[in-house]
Amino acid sequence: SLADYYAEQAAQAPDNLDAFWLPFTANKAFKARPRLLASASGMYYTDIEGRQILDACAGLWCVNAGHARPRIVEAIRQQVGTLDFAPNFAMASPLPFKLAERLAELAPVDLNHVFFTNSGSESVDSAMKIALAYHRVRGQGQRTRFIGREKAYHGVGFGGISVGGLPNNRKWFGPGLPGVDHLRHTLDLERNAFSKGLPVHGVEWAEELERLITLHDASTIAAVIIEPISGSAGVILPPQGYLQRIRQLCDKHGVLLIFDEVITGFGRVGKAFASQRFGVTPDLMTTAKGLTNGCVPMGAVLVSDGIFETFMQGPDNVIDLFHGYTYSGHPLACAAALATLDTYAEENLFEKAIELGDYWQAGLHSLKGLPHVVDVRNFGLIGAVEFAPRPDAHPGARGFEAFTRAFNEGQMLTRITGDVLALSPPLIVEKAHIDRIFNTLAEIIPKLD
Ligand code: PLP
Repeated sequence: SLADYYAEQAAQAPDNLDAFWLPFTANKAFKARPRLLASASGMYYTDIEGRQILDACAGLWCVNAGHARPRIVEAIRQQVGTLDFAPNFAMASPLPFKLAERLAELAPVDLNHVFFTNSGSESVDSAMKIALAYHRVRGQGQRTRFIGREKAYHGVGFGGISVGGLPNNRKWFGPGLPGVDHLRHTLDLERNAFSKGLPVHGVEWAEELERLITLHDASTIAAVIIEPISGSAGVILPPQGYLQRIRQLCDKHGVLLIFDEVITGFGRVGKAFASQRFGVTPDLMTTAKGLTNGCVPMGAVLVSDGIFETFMQGPDNVIDLFHGYTYSGHPLACAAALATLDTYAEENLFEKAIELGDYWQAGLHSLKGLPHVVDVRNFGLIGAVEFAPRPDAHPGARGFEAFTRAFNEGQMLTRITGDVLALSPPLIVEKAHIDRIFNTLAEIIPKLD
């Protein structure tokens, strides 16, 4: 049958690995020893050899409700046979309205308007464009600067790599957008290593924003963009009080605050969004990943009433925001997202990171004292283990060895950035899975070169 034919296509090893250029991958090494996943259910992947792999990072921080959840699978199936595509440029289908309303209900107060994208990167670039256009609509078009942070990851668009703080982007792709400046990152192993939850030291770094605003003059600055917790650049936590102080300084100077909640959104830290857990409300919030449980690509920018209303003051028949994607509010993505939100609600998954937070923290911190471990840090259902770099190899060599050992010997999928191993399990994780995650790491870490 057709179904059998396509099932077989997805599960069989490919004859040739050459044509697919894997993103963010050492392609030669991968193709010499590929890791191929064939199916997934709940907390586990199954690879093409039939081995069960525990998913300790929710795919790529996105499968927050676990894999192949029935409601979501059914919603997508239904939708694709009913309305496969609908344009949303001066046209629409009912679903994006319903989804936007649901998101507005979940979001922090005032963030009641939703612009749909297809990824975190697109959400970031969209939020930046909304910020620029907002200032222009208000007659402050000279506010064109952005302030990001060192070590930040805001995806791969030119906007996102400009406000992001990864040296590799500068090295490979040039200077990016003009007029961007960066706050320092908040990672401080000397004072904060092995902190449980948010570190107590470092709130003073928020004051640097005042210095940058003075340097550039507030009237030239459009927005500050911050991940409440950085994930992709190695799990960096905000010191206590830091985000609150950043918010105050943005308010003082009329600068917009964008929270990039692509990984912290949808329950990762025990509320729908980190903004709510930290009690700090941004003007714009970027999301993606957990929005559809990773099933269909989708992102969303949540926008405050004040910003949205500002755009609605123009003539009735003129486009208010000259921006959008062919697939903004795609019916399949909307269907997946609505069923995902139902699943999160039905199973109270946003509370899991608080319910299991102490158990998770205790497991993670039991790794303190193992060889090469220079820090472990955690918040919600996020964890990281940082290794000292190998003195005789390139940075990241030890981290990559930990990742491959966890996969090959521990049958466990983790995520690695440099020498930091990051953990972010699906929120359906149970204590037994948590035990396995940390037992596996305790076994492999002493073997690392
Ligand atoms: N922003 C943050 C904070 C992220 O962690 C990521 C992805 O990891 C992105 C943006 C980019 O998302 P995407 O890969 O969907 O473009």
